[in-house]
Amino acid sequence: MAPALVLVIDPGMSNPREWDEFEQALVELEAVPGAVLLTHGHLDHVMGCAGMLERYGLSPRIHPADVVTYNFALPAAQMYGVPLDTPPPPIADLQEGTTLKWEQCELEVRFTPGHAPGHVVFVDHQRKHVIGGDVLFNGSVGRTDLPGGDAATLAQSIVEQMYTLPEEYTVLSGHGPSTTIGAERATNPMVNAAGTGWLQS
Ligand SMILES: [Zn+2]
Ligand SMILES: [Zn+2]
Repeated sequence: MAPALVLVIDPGMSNPREWDEFEQALVELEAVPGAVLLTHGHLDHVMGCAGMLERYGLSPRIHPADVVTYNFALPAAQMYGVPLDTPPPPIADLQEGTTLKWEQCELEVRFTPGHAPGHVVFVDHQRKHVIGGDVLFNGSVGRTDLPGGDAATLAQSIVEQMYTLPEEYTVLSGHGPSTTIGAERATNPMVNAAGTGWLQS
C-alpha cells in the first residue's frame, strides 16, 4: 500500500533530536509529508521550514497577511541568538472562508488575527477539532505584544471565530495542553465568557 500523505502544520523542528522524533512518527504512521501549512509565521512555528523543503521538497503555505511575520523570523532569530536556517519563500495562498481538501480530510480556514496579523486556524468539522496555533490556549490566550499583535483584535477573533464553534470541539493549541471550546468559553480568564469581545483585566 502506498504510504499515506500527511499534512504537516507549523513545523518547529530545530535540532537533530526533534527531526528524529518527527521522522520516527512518520515511520509509525507509514506516512510521508504531502504539504506544510502554517497557522502563522512566528519563529517557533517555522524553524523546520527549511528542512521540510530540503528533505521533502515542500514549501510552507501561509495567509498573505502573515508573510510579514514570516519574513521577520530570521531577524528575530538573530536578535534572540537562536540558530535558524533561512526559511524558504512561502506560498501565500491560504484564504479565510475556504475549505482545504486533503486526502480524507477537510479543513476550514478561519482568519484569527491579533497574536499575529495574518494568523489562521484550521477547523476539522469531521473530527471536531481546531488546530488553533497561538490564538486560544488552555486557560490563556496568545501574547499580543509582538510586532503586528493587538489585544482587542485577538479578543474579537476568539469571540467571533473560536467561540462560535460547537462547544465539544477540541482545541489543539500551539503551546500547552489541548482544551475545548466549551471549557474556554466558560472559564477562560482572558476573554469574557459572555463573548463581548473584551479582555478582562
Ligand atoms: Zn506565535
Ligand atoms: Zn508559538
